[in-house]
Formats: sequence, structure tokens, C-alpha cells
Amino acid sequence: MFDKVVIANRGEIALRILRACRELGIKTVAVHSTVDRDLKHVRLADESVCIGPPQPALSYLNIPAVISAAEVTDAVAIHPGYGFLSENADFAERVEQSGFVFIGPRSETIRLMGDKISAIRSMSAAGIPCVPGSGKPLTDDMGENVRIAREIGYPIIIKAAGGGGGRGMRVVHVEAALKNAIQLTKSEALAAFQNDTVYMEKFLEHPRHIEFQVLADHHGNCVHLGERDCSMQRRHQKIIEESPAPGIDAETRARMGKRCVDACLAIGYRGAGTFEFLYENGEFYFIEMNTRLQVEHPVTEMVTGVDIVKEQLAVAAGAKLSVTQAEVVLRGHAVECRINAEDPKTFRPSPGRVKTFHTPGGPGVRIDSHLYDGYLVPSHYDSLVAKLITHAPERTTALIRMANALNEMVVDGIDTNIPLHRDLVQDAAFLAGGTDIHYLERKLKLD
Ligand code: ADP
Repeated sequence: MFDKVVIANRGEIALRILRACRELGIKTVAVHSTVDRDLKHVRLADESVCIGPPQPALSYLNIPAVISAAEVTDAVAIHPGYGFLSENADFAERVEQSGFVFIGPRSETIRLMGDKISAIRSMSAAGIPCVPGSGKPLTDDMGENVRIAREIGYPIIIKAAGGGGGRGMRVVHVEAALKNAIQLTKSEALAAFQNDTVYMEKFLEHPRHIEFQVLADHHGNCVHLGERDCSMQRRHQKIIEESPAPGIDAETRARMGKRCVDACLAIGYRGAGTFEFLYENGEFYFIEMNTRLQVEHPVTEMVTGVDIVKEQLAVAAGAKLSVTQAEVVLRGHAVECRINAEDPKTFRPSPGRVKTFHTPGGPGVRIDSHLYDGYLVPSHYDSLVAKLITHAPERTTALIRMANALNEMVVDGIDTNIPLHRDLVQDAAFLAGGTDIHYLERKLKLD
């Protein structure tokens, strides 16, 4: 196992990685910006290195700064967490060139999956069902674009090949709007992702978002850990996730899981990864693969008992996966609510000082959070401040536990979306299970 690992992230996920390292006896190095000195994991880490000012571009995204932190502390590996540099193939490559282990897939794999068009091509070749679409970049030939759109059938969606975080997408309902939509998405994509390549897909009107978690090692072993339903979204951002997905039977899970495993073996995948699908009328359509740890990984951990972060660390150190597919058994149901520092009505970020942080407890309740009394939530980063996860033998009880836990939880001093979650876990359609990805936005408009 590694002697010392750099945690190249912040907030709850940095703390989560630190905890996994502690269990494995790995020493930790926290890298942080100047406003993040008081983060919980920075205080708990064996060593810490300040890598720059608050702006992410100058600290958490500063590749030379992160790599020098590993150099000066004699660390052997770097865990990128999610967001920031986690899906940056150049970073992964430079980490390895500098003699450190990147805890994640090979840089070629990250590059392949980072471009959504090449991801769709390679996954389609590996037998994964994809959304009907152009399958290639759109050109300036509007005659051809019109023909492709007619063939797919409206509505269609124009998507940036290099897009992420729910940005760089535009739905087109009628042919008259096509040209303008392509141009707008291209210029937005260029500004946001320095890449103006866009492609076209059928826009599915009432899909659910269902994703499969996989783990692969360097010895040719690969398993899937079942699926998560992440359909409760606002602006393409997930806010509640659960596992298993309501209504997905064991046969479907095994069949789709095996397809994902086979695709991983076909591309020589290693580490943790997620296949994201839209699911409509009983069919799965691949949209993208995330080559990193995900925010919502805890729901899978709760139902499988597999510690995904420990597996990532072990696999990166060259060990075999700790479980075989036959040993992966789903037990019960888990739900996660993402607690964001934001106004529950306007969704405006609400940074500031936390006066009181009181966490719920009891059977089947897990909190992944870096908050503590007196902690100042900075304004420079993502608004996620806590993940509340409940687990129970069946979905109904997991949701009751969630409702109770949300009622117990206190975050004073800043606004959070806890009131929205309290409302959602009482929502009849959500309780019934299987709401689509547009459900939350429809509901918010009615309120
Ligand atoms: P990102 O990398 O930005 O997360 P994704 O390709 O994963 O982009 O898509 C994010 C979300 O956008 C999906 O969860 C879904 O809500 C919506 N979306 C993407 N593609 C389609 C599509 N073809 N039809 C309907 N909704 C889509």
C-alpha cells in the first residue's frame, strides 16, 4: 500500500478520502488554497501545503502547484477526488510523468471518455446502447445538419463534446431554430471548454437518469456495484440519488451491469468509473462515462458494503479488487440528499459562517460533511456542504429515516436547501418512485 497520498481536493470529498487513507494506514497531505486553511481535513491531515489563492485556477486547478506539493512532501500518489483536476487527462499524464501514481484510470482512458463523441463511439463499439444521434461532430454544412436532425426526429439536443457539469447543451424543437442553436452552443462551448465541437442527439422527453458503478483492477478483474437513480435534478445537477433504482429488476441489473463490465474490459479500464444512462420506456441510452469518484458514491457503498474509495486506493497501488461479482450483494436501499449552501427558493449561493451544525444520527444514517460550528463557507467553490445518506432494509424505511434525519439536522448561520429536501421526501410522486429528470423543475414551477 502507498506510504503517503496527496488529496488534491477540498470539502467533504477531501475528508472522505482522508478517512479511507486512515483506515488503510496511509499518511495524508492536504493541499489547500489560502481561504481553506481551516477545512476539517486540512486540520486532520498529517501534512498540509498551501498551493495558492482562493481562485480555483490559481490553486486547485494549478497542475504544477499540486505536483510540487507531492514532491516536497515525498508523497507517492495523488487522489483527485471529483471536479477540479479529476477528469483532466493532461494532469493524470503529468502526475505519472513526474513519478507519482494518479489514483484513477490511465490518461488515455480519461482522454477517450472526456470527449463525449469518442466516448459514445468506443462505448457503442463495445456493445453499450447509445442515444440515437449524429455520432460525429457537426460541421458548418447546414444542409447536412438539417438532414441529420430530420433523420433523428425533433426534439433534438445539441451538446458540447467537451461539456460537463450540465453546461453546453441546447434543446431544439423545430427546424427553424436549428442553425441558431448550433451556433450558440458552439460559441458557449468555446468560451466554457475551449473546444467548440458539438454533436446532436435525440432529446428524450421523459427519461430517468440511471447510472452503473464499476470497479476494475490491473489484473483483468472488473465488477459492477449495481445502479443509482439520479433523476431528481435541477439544471442538470443531481440533488437526490438512490440505490437501487426503483423498478429495475435483478435480471435487468445483471444484464446492463455485465455490459458495462464488458465495455470496461474492452477498453482496459482501471479504477472506479460510472456509466451514465438515460432510461426511457424500458430502454437504456448511454450518455457519458465519468472516469472518477462521484458525489453520489455513498448510496452504492451503503447497499453493497464495498468501500469505493478504499478500492480506488488499493487498485491504484496494484492490488486486486477485494470482491468478485458473485460476492457483490445488494442489501436494502439507500438515499442521499445533497445539502447545498443556497437559498432553498431562489437557489442563490449562501456562503458565510456556520453558527451551529447539528448532525442527525441513529440506525442507517450517514453524514459526509466538512462542516463544524464556526466554519466559514467560502464563496469561491461549489455550494455542496453535506451529504446526508440513509440506509434501510427497504426504500420506504430509508425515506422515513431521511425525513426524520432532515428534521433533526440543523445548519444555522447560512441558508441551505434542507427545506426543499424536507418537502421532496414527502412528495407523493417521488415516494412512489421512478420520477423523470424534469420532475423537480416542473414541480418548482407549480410551487
Ligand atoms: P454533463 O457532462 O454536463 O453532466 P451529460 O451528458 O451527462 O452532461 O448530461 C447531463 C444531463 O443533461 C442529463 O442527466 C440529462 O438530464 C440531460 N440530457 C443530456 N442528454 C440528453 C438527451 N439526449 N435527452 C434528454 N436529456 C438529456
